[in-house]
Amino acid sequence: MERELTNRNCPLWGSETCARLNMRACRGCPAEEKDALEADQIRADVDQLYALLPPEGVASLFTGERCTLCRGERKGKRTCYGLYDMGHADPRAQKKKLSLFRGKAGGFLIPLQFGCCDGCRRRYQLLGWLPSLTVILCLGLALAIVAQEPVAQSLRAVWRGLPLLTLLMVAAISFAAGKVLVKVLRDRFNQLTYMDLKDHPMVRRMSALGWEGLQEGKYPQPVFTRQRLTNGVGTLAPEESFEGDGKISD
Ligand SMILES: [Zn+2]
Repeated sequence: MERELTNRNCPLWGSETCARLNMRACRGCPAEEKDALEADQIRADVDQLYALLPPEGVASLFTGERCTLCRGERKGKRTCYGLYDMGHADPRAQKKKLSLFRGKAGGFLIPLQFGCCDGCRRRYQLLGWLPSLTVILCLGLALAIVAQEPVAQSLRAVWRGLPLLTLLMVAAISFAAGKVLVKVLRDRFNQLTYMDLKDHPMVRRMSALGWEGLQEGKYPQPVFTRQRLTNGVGTLAPEESFEGDGKISD
């Protein structure tokens, strides 16, 4: 990727830290217009973050042509990326509250970018839509039936509020049914796809090193995108790494 790292006066220019920050341009880089002392601070932060990562890094998730969310030997072709943020408290800071991850101070954040095939993405998306889809379909169907005057009349003959109560019950039952359906499907899908990200080898590896997923919920869903992030710490692909002037246009 063409990068415009033009500021040769930057104390970090051409350094490993510069490569690891992986900015598209000097403008907007955390080291922009920083003096040597501040640049050293940034270098220390980046070094600290890298010290917390698995030694082989996280690039293997997004550099291959194959899906990294598929289970088993056969992996689908990568067509998109599933993004999942993980955070780690800064061991140099005293405060280790999870809430600090979202702030800039006191913690580190790295996006895991799972190369993902169409099949895995669809499985995740289906489970995301299914609960509300079930309710909408069942409720729509129930409404169409209850709205029929003969049906409504006979319901009202029993009790005036019965048509509404019927709809409320259908909503509650379909919501519960949706949940059961999601569970059944998740178990089935889980044989093909890592449907529980916490079970993914890379996430387990990161967790063992003290990283935590920042998304709430029991089964966090990655954010799917066609293009991966190519900017910022943790997005560097090994072939892009800084090797003298050669790989970076100036
Ligand atoms: Zn897959």
